[in-house]
Amino acid sequence: MQRRANMRSHEPRSSSSCAACKFLKRKCTPKCQFAPYFRSEEPKKFAKVHKVFGASNVSKILNEVPEDQRDDTVNSLVYEAEVRLRDPIYGCIGAIASLHQKMVELQYDLILARTRLASYVDLYLDDRGSTMMAPIEIPEANRFHF
Ligand SMILES: [Zn+2]
Repeated sequence: MQRRANMRSHEPRSSSSCAACKFLKRKCTPKCQFAPYFRSEEPKKFAKVHKVFGASNVSKILNEVPEDQRDDTVNSLVYEAEVRLRDPIYGCIGAIASLHQKMVELQYDLILARTRLASYVDLYLDDRGSTMMAPIEIPEANRFHF
C-alpha cells in the first residue's frame, strides 16, 4: 500500500521528462535537478541556457546556490543567455551600458530643464534673491565606469 502511494507521487514526473532531459536525450528521474526549473513545456528555455553556459556549468551553479535562490538563479541565467544570444559580444553589459547612456542623457536633459526653469523663476524672484531650486548632484552610485 505504502509502495503504491510512493509510485503515484512520482507519476507526473516520470510521464513527462523535463526540458533539460528531453534536450539532453536522457531519462528524467524524480531527483533530476533541472526538472523544477526547466518544465517540459518550455524547451527553448533550457536550449538557450545550454547553448551559452553548457548543461554541466548550469548543474554546477545550481549545486552551489541555496535551494530557495535557485528560481532566481535560473531566471538570471535564462535572461543572460537570451541577451548573450542577441548580442554575442557585449551580452548583458551592452544592455547595461545602453541604459546607463540613456540615464546620463536624461540627467543632462533634467539639468538643462531645471536651469531653464530657474532662469524663468529668476524673473519673478523678489529682492531677497533666493533660489527655489537646489542644484542636481549625480550620486556616485549612478555613475558608471568601464
Ligand atoms: Zn530532468
